[in-house]
Amino acid sequence: MKVVIMAGGKGTRITSVASDIPKPMIKIDDKPVLEHEIECLRKQGFKDIIITVSHFGSIIMDYFGDGKKFGVNIKYFNEKEPLGNAGALFKIKDELTEDFLLLNADAIFDIDFNRFVDFHKKKGGLVTLFTHPNSHPYDSGLIITDSNDSVLKWLSKEDDRPLNYKNLVNAGLHVISPKILEKNIDTPKIDLDRQLLKPLAGTGLMYSYKSSEYVKDMGTPDRFYAVSKDFKEGRVKAKNLGNKQKAIFLDRDGTINKSVGFLTNINDFVLEDGAAEAIKKINNSGYLAIVITNQPVIARGEVSLDELDEIHNKMERLLGAEGAYLDAIYYCPHHPDKGFVGERIEYKIVCDCRKPKPGMILNAAKDYNIDLEKSWMIGDFKNDVLCGKNAGCKTALINQELKNDVDADIIGLNLLECVNKILGE
Ligand SMILES: [Zn+2]
Repeated sequence: MKVVIMAGGKGTRITSVASDIPKPMIKIDDKPVLEHEIECLRKQGFKDIIITVSHFGSIIMDYFGDGKKFGVNIKYFNEKEPLGNAGALFKIKDELTEDFLLLNADAIFDIDFNRFVDFHKKKGGLVTLFTHPNSHPYDSGLIITDSNDSVLKWLSKEDDRPLNYKNLVNAGLHVISPKILEKNIDTPKIDLDRQLLKPLAGTGLMYSYKSSEYVKDMGTPDRFYAVSKDFKEGRVKAKNLGNKQKAIFLDRDGTINKSVGFLTNINDFVLEDGAAEAIKKINNSGYLAIVITNQPVIARGEVSLDELDEIHNKMERLLGAEGAYLDAIYYCPHHPDKGFVGERIEYKIVCDCRKPKPGMILNAAKDYNIDLEKSWMIGDFKNDVLCGKNAGCKTALINQELKNDVDADIIGLNLLECVNKILGE
């Protein structure tokens, strides 16, 4: 599969770090960002690369040449007049006869490209967007999907947004079919997002690939320094899903949000004090933050799947407002005992996922390549601790009253205390 890297941006916001070189040539750990990206691609078998350049393009071309020195083949499209960020794609259309990767060189990333491409093929759309949660969804553009990951809406940060929403943001990496270049566009400049991709929202032809891997823009000095630190400390590479991950699994009710018994009314969903701060610490630690929750309210017929989704959107929105995010949410909708008024009989089964069974954690481990021995389960009930143990994780309990009945590795007053102890703070 060919890879097109867009390296033509001007990079004005970062001139205080480096003013005389193009953004992709800024060094992190003594190598240009673009070289890290090319290395990541080469290791995974992606060696056919086209780089589109404009601003200071000769610096990039002089450094990388034909790519041989870096173990890849590189061709260039040098944009003499500004064509917009997608104009070059139309100029190199003849080279793009099959689906290709389109990457933005302004970000630092280290991702499992084959996993991304496999997802694209499985879904069969024209475009797959690489998406992820971030620490500031409230002022980011949002991707809204259905339960099959099809993109329904792509909101810019200025657009009206729903009251509650998932923390899902476009990262600037894509798998694209050349079919989208058959479109006739007669403007002198062509904008990728606005003119080519956004019109595909709601058509069923564009999918969102949500990943926990490291992709961060380094477009401002602050972000550049944060990314450099993450790189030096190994967090950029470690999060590639080709590598074993570690996770902190979190119970929901009584751990993240205040316990109200069976939560059926979205208005009763209120975060526990310190929960967002705790999850933010997990986000910055290199552990994944994954919710593991029993929701028998579905089987009981008290909450529909759509209502549960909305409750989870509220959880994501409230956490996002404080700079925290979840990498994934797993829930068990089942309950084993039949015979209640209003119940949904299809969920009244003995399943493998209801805690204390480890099914949800085992599924997450498969989906995110997680080493369970290096992972933790935190919750406020005996079943949370048992579930963690059954999955082979270390465990933390938030419940002083149960501390003599439950054999957890750590006991804390609340989520924040448990997370501090796990992270050694
Ligand atoms: Zn279940």
